[in-house]
Amino acid sequence: MKIAVIGQSLFGQEVYSHLRKEGHEIVGVFTIPDKDGKADPLGELADLMEQHQEELATIEALDAGAVYTLALKTHVGMSIQTFRYFAGWCDKIQGSTIPINQARPNRNLTLTKKEPVGVCGIIIPWNYPLMMLSWKTAACLAAGNTVVIKPAQVTPLTALKFAELTLKAGIPKGVINILPGSGSLVGQRLADHPDVRKIGFTGSTEVGKHIMKSCALSNVKKVSLELGGKSPLIIFADCDLSKAVQMGMSSVFFNKGENCIAAGRLFVEDSIHDQFVRRVVEEVGKMKIGNPLNRDTDHGPQNHQAHLNKLREYCQRGVREGATLVCGGNQVPRPGFFFEPTVFTDVEDHMFIAKEESFGPIMVISRFADGDMDGVLSRANATEFGLASGVFTRDINKALYVSDKLAAGTVFVNTYNKTDVAAPFGGFKQSGFGKDLGEAALNEYLRVKTVTFEY
Ligand code: NAD
Repeated sequence: MKIAVIGQSLFGQEVYSHLRKEGHEIVGVFTIPDKDGKADPLGELADLMEQHQEELATIEALDAGAVYTLALKTHVGMSIQTFRYFAGWCDKIQGSTIPINQARPNRNLTLTKKEPVGVCGIIIPWNYPLMMLSWKTAACLAAGNTVVIKPAQVTPLTALKFAELTLKAGIPKGVINILPGSGSLVGQRLADHPDVRKIGFTGSTEVGKHIMKSCALSNVKKVSLELGGKSPLIIFADCDLSKAVQMGMSSVFFNKGENCIAAGRLFVEDSIHDQFVRRVVEEVGKMKIGNPLNRDTDHGPQNHQAHLNKLREYCQRGVREGATLVCGGNQVPRPGFFFEPTVFTDVEDHMFIAKEESFGPIMVISRFADGDMDGVLSRANATEFGLASGVFTRDINKALYVSDKLAAGTVFVNTYNKTDVAAPFGGFKQSGFGKDLGEAALNEYLRVKTVTFEY
């Protein structure tokens, strides 16, 4: 394999000789910034992505059914921000000096170095094809690694356009490798490969478990997993109701519900329940469903046929189990994979739709008794997932208490979906481990070496 290395050269020498020993050819070492502080390939890549943002957003709309305006702002916009953010980290990765053995006569010095792990494999899902690629790839490159990326089989196109831009940005061939293909073949080969030292995975819990096993059995690869979710959103009667309705809508219907942190279950306090449901249903009625390329469309087609079928079955099961279907529940009668924004109420804890992720535009509402804060918390936490959660209340004490008790990697208070490149993102429990974004993401692609001197 031809490999070029980008990032920190200082601590990378051992990695390079290791790669050479394994028979790879190092075709270039790219340091950021270079000696006169000018080279900034990740920043340049971000600039190029910005210049091509409309094209990238159009591809995402055609390939993933993302609504163009959202694709421009979120799918592509946040991808650009992610590369800019991690470009700034390239020359700030450092270890520490640690006092050891203080009571002994020998003098010691211990220092730590943070090194790139080597060749990394990145395996991503289809809901935000470019953004998921960017979250992982930017941190991986800033940490000084090379990368092999496997996009989801149904959405490879923005990854291929991205590959073209990396060459224009002057990133040497071999640093970023894109291998579209099936999970069972290409993804599995990456997880099994003895030269790959780390897998960054985003996708379902089922495949994540399988990948973790493959990483362990092949060569004990480092692995981070961003998996499924069924995130609870608790709405207390003392909230700003208009904001709760607005954010409750986006917590479910953002990106057609194909959103890993989507609120999978809303718990609404009894005294405002009916009013909340009425206002949500009014808002759903105003949503414009249609061609994702039109600038006024709110709700585009689902990603692919199999997913559409899954959503239909999910709703049928909800009805069979006795939940009330307030609106939606069917495919929209027009060509394409359009599914109606759907609202269920009277959802009980034992029901399938209360427990399983739909990954679609389906709001699942349960009520809780007025004042029963601990009761609703235990129901909200009674899930094997722990990706995100949310709470709406005007009471700061309640907000602090609830955010303490919710067992999820992210808690949104009086907002939802507010992810930021600087803030770590990742789940608890069977939603996985390891973080994307923020400084924490760098550690997923670094290894720490301890060097101890005696003098
Ligand atoms: P998936 O697990 O089916 O596939 C994800 C990726 O893994 C794809 O690229 C697929 O080709 C690959 N893959 C499949 N089998 C593999 C194998 N044996 N070895 C290696 N790779 C393999 O998930 P999906 O259907 O693409 O995405 C939907 C799921 O992703 C949902 O459960 C959603 O919650 C989750 N998701 C999580 C996050 C997060 O940040 N936690 C973000 C987006 C999506």
